[in-house]
Amino acid sequence: MNVIVIGSGFAGLSTAATLANDGYNVTLLEKNNDIGGRARQFKHKGFLFDMGPSWYWMPDVFEKFFNKFNKSVSDYYDLIKLNPGFQMIFDEFETIQISSSFNEIKELFEKIEPGSSRSLELFMKEAEFKYKFSMEKLIYNPGLSFFEFFNKGIFKNILNLDLLKSYKKHVHKSFKNPKLRALLEFPVLFLGTAPEETPALYSLMAYSGFVQGTYYPDGGFVQVIKGIERLCLDLGVTIKKNQCVKKINVKDFKVESVETQNNHYSADIVVAAADYEHVDNSLLDKKYRNYNSEYWDKRVMSPSCLLFYLGIDKKINKLTHHNLFFDSDIDLHINEIYSKKIWPTDPLFYVSCPSKTDKKVAPSGMENLFLLIPISPGSKDNEETREYYFDIIINRLENYCNTKIRNHIIYNRSYCINDFVSDYNAYKGNAYGLANTLFQTANFKPRMINKKVSNLYYTGQLTVPGPGVPPSLISGQIIGDLISKKYK
Ligand SMILES: Cc1cc2nc3c(=O)[nH]c(=O)nc-3n(C[C@H](O)[C@H](O)[C@H](O)COP(=O)(O)OP(=O)(O)OC[C@H]3O[C@@H](n4cnc5c(N)ncnc54)[C@H](O)[C@@H]3O)c2cc1C
Repeated sequence: MNVIVIGSGFAGLSTAATLANDGYNVTLLEKNNDIGGRARQFKHKGFLFDMGPSWYWMPDVFEKFFNKFNKSVSDYYDLIKLNPGFQMIFDEFETIQISSSFNEIKELFEKIEPGSSRSLELFMKEAEFKYKFSMEKLIYNPGLSFFEFFNKGIFKNILNLDLLKSYKKHVHKSFKNPKLRALLEFPVLFLGTAPEETPALYSLMAYSGFVQGTYYPDGGFVQVIKGIERLCLDLGVTIKKNQCVKKINVKDFKVESVETQNNHYSADIVVAAADYEHVDNSLLDKKYRNYNSEYWDKRVMSPSCLLFYLGIDKKINKLTHHNLFFDSDIDLHINEIYSKKIWPTDPLFYVSCPSKTDKKVAPSGMENLFLLIPISPGSKDNEETREYYFDIIINRLENYCNTKIRNHIIYNRSYCINDFVSDYNAYKGNAYGLANTLFQTANFKPRMINKKVSNLYYTGQLTVPGPGVPPSLISGQIIGDLISKKYK
C-alpha cells in the first residue's frame, strides 16, 4: 500500500519509519529544502545553528523509538550529559546552576531554603510516578476514546496524576523561595502555558530535567534528525524535498492523491504531519475538514518566539550551555503573553551557547549563540520590533556577562512569527503547537483521524500527545501503529 506522509519533522519521520518497517511503501513530502521541520540546522561560515530544539530531555523516549527498529540511539549519534544541566540567572551576581547530579541539586535547594531538599525529594518522587505511569499507560494512546482509560489501571490512578490541580499551586505548596519556584516552573512555561493553567501532571517534565538530566546530541540537535533520516532510508522510505503539498484530493470520502506544486502522488493512505490547522483549512475542501476556523481560534496555543542566531568572534566566560534569564518579572511576562497577548514589556529570555560543549558548532575561539524570547502567537512581527527586543536583551546579556558583545557579532539572523508561517505554515506563527492545558490534554486534543475521510490521518505537535520533540516522536509512532493495526 502506498502511504504519503506530508511533512518531515520528528512526527513525519517517525510515522514514515514505523510504517516502512511494517511493510508499507512510504513517500515523505517536505516543502522545504531541508528535512527536520522546526529542528533544522543551518550553516554560516563555520557556525552550525540548530534552528529549534536544544533541550534533549526524556532520553528514554528516543531510546525506545530506536529500539522499535532493533537499533539504539548510539547507532546514530552520541549523547553528552551536560553539567551543569542549565543555569538560571536572576541578576549579574546571582545565578543558580543545576548540576547533573540530583544529590547536588538537593544540597543546593537546602542551602537556599532549609528543609526544601526533603520537599524536592517528595516532589520528584511524585513526578517520577507521573512520568513512568504516563510513559507506560497514557502517552502512547491515540486519545480516540475514553475507553482507553479503562482496563489499564489508569482510572484508579487518575487522582495521583493531579490532573485537576494547577502546576503553580503544586510547586507553591512545597517551596516558598521565589527562585526555587521559578526553577521548577520554567519547564512548563517555556514549552506550554502559564503554570497556573497547567495541570500538576506536568511535573513529569521537571522530573526529566532535574533527575534524568539534560543531554546534548554531539554535533547538534540536527544529529537526531539525521539519525532518523538514515533509519528511514534504510527502511526504504522515499524522501522528497521541495514538495509543498497544495491539495489533498478526496473522492467518495477517500483520499485518492495529493498534489504538490509540480507533482501528483496517488495514495492509499495519507498521514498529514504538517501543522494540523494548515492541513485542515488549506489542503482539504471545506466539507472534509475536522475543525473549522472558530475551533482553531478558541485553542490555547503555546508561545511563539522571537529568536536570534548569533556568531560571536570571541569567547564569553559567564555563559554555560543553557542559560535562562529570569532577571525580570516572571508574572508580568506570563500575564502579557498568555492573558493580554501582547509583546512583553520586560521579557524573560533564554540563551543557548552550544559552543561551550561542542567545538564543531563555531570557529575556534568564537561562540555560537541562540537567543529566544517567548511571545504570544499571532503577535505583530516586523523588523522594528525585532530590533527593539534585540537591543533590550543584548544589553542585559552584556550586563550579566560583564563584557562587550554587540561589537563582536559577526553574524546575526533573526527569526519570528512571519518566518514560522512562511517556513512551516504555522497557525498564528506558533512555535510549539498547543498549550498543555487540561482541556487540551489527551482525548481533548485535535483528533488523529479524519472523521469524514476514511484514509486520512494527522500527527505532530498539534495532536496527541503534544508539543516537544519526544511527544512528536511518539505521535508518529502512535499513528503508524494505529494504521498498521487497521489495515492488517
Ligand atoms: C525555537 C524552538 C525551540 C524548541 N525547543 C525545544 C526543545 O528544546 N526541546 C524540545 O523537546 N522541543 C523543542 N521545541 C519543540 C519541537 O521542536 C517541536 O515540538 C517538534 O519539532 C515538532 O515536530 P513536528 O514534526 O510536529 O512539526 P515540524 O517540525 O514543524 O514538522 C512539520 C513539517 O511539515 C512541513 N510542511 C508544512 N506544510 C507543508 C506542506 N503543505 N507540504 C509539505 N510539507 C509541509 C514543514 O516544513 C515541516 O518540515 C522547540 C521548537 C521551537 C520552534
